[in-house]
Amino acid sequence: MTKTNKTDEKKNALSPMMTHYKELKAKHPDAIILYRLGDFYEMFFDDAKKASKILDLTLTGRDCGLEERAPMCGVPHHAVESYISRLIGAGEKVAICEQLSNPNDQKGMVKRDIIRIITPGTNTIEEMLDGSVNHYLASIVGSEKLNIYAIALLDITTGEFKVKNFLHSTFADLEDFLLSCSPAEIIAPSYICDESRSLNGVKCERIVRFTPFYDYSFNADNAKDRILKHYNVYSLEALGLEEQHPLTIGALGGLLEYIINTQKRDLTHISVPAIVSDELEMYIDYNTRRNLELTETLSDGKRKGSLIDVIDKTYTGMGARKLRSWLLHPLQKIDDIEKRQNAITEIIRNNATRATIGALLSQIKDIERYITKISYLSINPKDCVALCESLKVVPNLYKGINKLKCEFFVNLCKKYVDISEIYEVLDKAIDKNAPAIPKDNKYIADGYSEELDRLRKFKTEVNSVIVDFELRQREITGVPTLKVGKNRIFGYYIEISKTKKPERLPADYVRKQTIANGERYINDELIQLEKEILGAEEHMAELEANLFSQLKDYLLTKTHQLKIIADLIADVDAIFSLAIVSKINNYVRPKMTDKGAINIVDGRHPVVESLLNANEFVPNDTILDKNYPITILTGPNMAGKSTYIRQVAVIVLLAHIGCFVPATKAEISLVDRIFTRVGASDNLVRGQSTFMVEMLEVANIINNATANSLLILDEIGRGTSTLDGLSIAWAIVEHILLKIKAKTLFATHYHELSELEKLLSGIKNYRVLVQENRSSITFLYKIARGGSNRSFGIEVASIAGVKESITNRAKDILDVLSKSHEVSGDLTEKMSAISKESAIPCNQMTLFPENETFTKIKTMLKGTDLNRCTPLEALTILTDMKKTLED
Ligand code: ADP
Repeated sequence: MTKTNKTDEKKNALSPMMTHYKELKAKHPDAIILYRLGDFYEMFFDDAKKASKILDLTLTGRDCGLEERAPMCGVPHHAVESYISRLIGAGEKVAICEQLSNPNDQKGMVKRDIIRIITPGTNTIEEMLDGSVNHYLASIVGSEKLNIYAIALLDITTGEFKVKNFLHSTFADLEDFLLSCSPAEIIAPSYICDESRSLNGVKCERIVRFTPFYDYSFNADNAKDRILKHYNVYSLEALGLEEQHPLTIGALGGLLEYIINTQKRDLTHISVPAIVSDELEMYIDYNTRRNLELTETLSDGKRKGSLIDVIDKTYTGMGARKLRSWLLHPLQKIDDIEKRQNAITEIIRNNATRATIGALLSQIKDIERYITKISYLSINPKDCVALCESLKVVPNLYKGINKLKCEFFVNLCKKYVDISEIYEVLDKAIDKNAPAIPKDNKYIADGYSEELDRLRKFKTEVNSVIVDFELRQREITGVPTLKVGKNRIFGYYIEISKTKKPERLPADYVRKQTIANGERYINDELIQLEKEILGAEEHMAELEANLFSQLKDYLLTKTHQLKIIADLIADVDAIFSLAIVSKINNYVRPKMTDKGAINIVDGRHPVVESLLNANEFVPNDTILDKNYPITILTGPNMAGKSTYIRQVAVIVLLAHIGCFVPATKAEISLVDRIFTRVGASDNLVRGQSTFMVEMLEVANIINNATANSLLILDEIGRGTSTLDGLSIAWAIVEHILLKIKAKTLFATHYHELSELEKLLSGIKNYRVLVQENRSSITFLYKIARGGSNRSFGIEVASIAGVKESITNRAKDILDVLSKSHEVSGDLTEKMSAISKESAIPCNQMTLFPENETFTKIKTMLKGTDLNRCTPLEALTILTDMKKTLED
């Protein structure tokens, strides 16, 4: 083989490091690999090309053994988190390849491997996370044939883990649930999903994307094994999961497998999975959450102006997340609601405790997030100081709540675990001024390790030894300006300036460096001293790192206790927030019932009220009950209809989370769901018109609402022509009243709908009062009995500043159109005529609803021949009928 051939061959073979890189890349083709090289994380080939664009980095090259250099870009290791955040933000997965052996110790290639894969749902980088919201990773498993699905949710930043089962649900239900918890990432077996957002072939337009994961991990047996292994238990019974469907186990186990696969460690902070049950909590769908602006506003998606913004007075991140979770998962048992109400009452009455607990909570940091860092062994010394300071106040917090008598606090106190040992260990171990990055500054406290103390003492003494040495050298050389110094390259030296250089230097002086105005020397004694000092410094750094690592291991064994405490603090913080809000905003404790009636006196909208000056908000009453479940609210645009109907929904919702409500008196019957259809919005991305979206939402409500639901319907039918819209709105009200019987607030500017009250029993008309001036109107925001007789659209246009010439012309056109359409006037008569012809009998229907009792009574009557009946037999039949009714 010639020499040239040899070189060619060399240029065609990847270097060993690049071969290793390529092997890793083959295992993780979908992730950008950050490959640690010294102080940098480098990216190569296509990863480098992609990342350099996203991160705005210069694309360079690196010799890789081949003719052409490998495209490369890199980021400094100390700033890596912000770069990872940007890559994740751009929808990429990132695999971290770390150096696993010390490059200085080792001969040959440094050992490197992937230590973690960061995906949108497994990201724990603090700067990317909003502390007040949950950050979910979701998994979905299901069978189209059985129509059973399970969705598991894990918040890796707090360890919250839960699962919800869906039996006989539609895809819209699944999509809705996923949207309502807005997971950062959704994984699923490839047989039910693909990356193009399809679930079982059905396009889920509103979902960002699905990540297919190994099918076998969702298989019930494998999933079960994974769960048992993770929680270190022998049976699912130990976790309360023994009765769960194999698909539920699949969703949970598959998700755990994904975590182990990407995080490459056992995360001890993941809690035992909770089963989300509709019996215990009310499901708030995506539309309701949006329309009632529970967590962000409809207009700009901001938190300011949302309900959570008004009710969140929590001090800690854990408290904020808990409160948000309460708001999005209202309770369904009066008992549970009353426990929270009693707690709020007690806090409101107890001024001193309120102040003390508030002061204590304000000193507590986000312990839940520290627990995650402990699980990842990524907690830093500064975090430990903050954790320690937070734990310090916990016993006092416990003492404070221990004084409170109601069941909510008694139960919390029962859960309390003593964490004084953890506090003491941290207090002793960590220096109070410890830095976040353990580098130059000390972080292990004095007095924690005898060995470390001895080395530190030596280091301080060394300074005086050096000073001593310097004085002796001055004497020996007779140079009073002689200095002993140190730099990073040359280490310790004796420096003598040119002008002061003596005739004869001591024999053991060896010249080390010449500088502009003098010379630097070293002698044997200084070499010896240097060795001792450097050895001690190295030893000290090593010892501190070891001690800190032991401390992290210790904390890892305490995550369970810390989690209990964090959860307890979250509960206290959340309930105190509700109490404070209830007190400062003059909310009243609602009486919860199961009688089916909602009766609110002087209700207010908590958010609109908070945006207005004191007493500017006009309060209004609400009565909805079994006899009159439907209110039709008419009035001009801008009169306050939407505000009013949403206010009722918000009050009912607040009551269900145990909070007091903005009213002077309220009696609220439990509702199983709150449905809202508010406003008109196009979803052009989905290619659906305003009207289509509106009707889809209406269809969903009609299909799912029950007699115990609360329906908030705003301007139904607005998206189509007046007559179309009016007819649809009319038919929907009839259907709700006759078939569903749900409590409903129906706001409309179709004043013609007021006619329904005369036709159907169960509807009451209300209108928003306006004061009519000469050519304009003034809004009074007061709700009064009776329907509006016209829409005032032209007056509102005039208030909005539309030119007078246009509004005048509009009035003329309206006159002509009203005459030609003749929609109102004899409408009652016309509609009753239609109703008589149609399948829906109006008044009679509501008096005798077609149910089982009615059918029995009908059968009894039919079977009775009154001409042959004795008075006594008639009486017996009557008694039987009455009995049937009472049964
Ligand atoms: P509509 O649905 O009838 O068009 P909105 O409910 O949107 O009207 O109300 C319009 C505006 O009127 C609100 O943004 C609010 O500022 C004000 N408003 C509504 N209700 C009240 C009220 N009860 N008291 C005071 N101002 C109100």
